[in-house]
Amino acid sequence: MAVPKKKTSKSRRDMRRAHHHLGAVNAHECPNCGELKLPHHVCTSCGQYDGREVVATAEA
Ligand SMILES: [Zn+2]
Repeated sequence: MAVPKKKTSKSRRDMRRAHHHLGAVNAHECPNCGELKLPHHVCTSCGQYDGREVVATAEA
């Protein structure tokens, strides 16, 4: 098994972890209502996914 040659210093370790909590905000426009929604998710404003209504909304 490969063994690290040098101990990772607190500085190096923390520099590596500096990116660990960056969350990518990937918003896509809903093709039905144009609201921003998460990809591969049902639209939160109109309840549509893949061209059909999946979740019943109050206005619909
Ligand atoms: Zn929508």
